[in-house]
Formats: sequence, C-alpha cells, structure tokens
Amino acid sequence: MTTFHGSCHCGSVRYEADIDLAAGTVKCNCSICTKLRFWAFIVAPTAFHLLQGQETLRDYRFGAQRDGHAFCSVCGIHVFTTVAAGPFVAVTVASLDDLPVDALMAAPVRYIDGRNDNWHTAPAEVRHL
Ligand SMILES: [Zn+2]
Repeated sequence: MTTFHGSCHCGSVRYEADIDLAAGTVKCNCSICTKLRFWAFIVAPTAFHLLQGQETLRDYRFGAQRDGHAFCSVCGIHVFTTVAAGPFVAVTVASLDDLPVDALMAAPVRYIDGRNDNWHTAPAEVRHL
C-alpha cells in the first residue's frame, strides 16, 4: 500500500489515497463510466482522505442515487466516485499526480460489463474503455 496524491485541474480539490497497485485498476462500460471514460483505483473509504476542496466539490447522482460522482465545480474534472454498495471510493487514474506511469502500466486492469449488469464479468469488447 502506497499513499498517492490526486487533484482536479484547477487545484481546488486535493486528496490522498492509500493504493494497492497490485490490486490494479478497473474500467467499466456502464452509462456513466462510458461518458467519463472512467478508469480508477478502488480504495477503502478509510484509505481516502480529502485534503481540501469540499466546498467546490459537486456530487452527481442518478438512478438509485446511491453513488456519488464527485467533480470540481470550478474546473469540471471528475476526481472520484463514492460507491455505497462497497462501500468504496474509486479514485480516477487521471486525477493522480504522483503515480509514475510505469507503475500504472504494471498494474493489472479489470474490465467490468456494467452496461449489462454483469459486475463481475468483462465485456466482449474493451478496447474503447
Ligand atoms: Zn478544479
């Protein structure tokens, strides 16, 4: 477990997260993940610490309203998603500032067919995710 730091584009939102690189990342093809081109590390809620920016974060929710897709209201960057059913926090790979690219490339990727409610199965096509 290593502590990494992330932020939105304008710097209003900053966080740190304890990430297990060997556990890898997830990509999903559900409606919101497709729109976001979501790519994330999953961490326990206790492993996620918002350092600043609570006041500029907005929490987009849809459907059952369970999951909060948190983005910066100043610059619009999606930073993380809180998932009640885990519970877990999914921090976006793109928001991490100090994760070396070679470490990211070495981490396995797990694909999820969320579009068809197969949350434990990879979809047939993953290249666009
Ligand atoms: Zn921002």
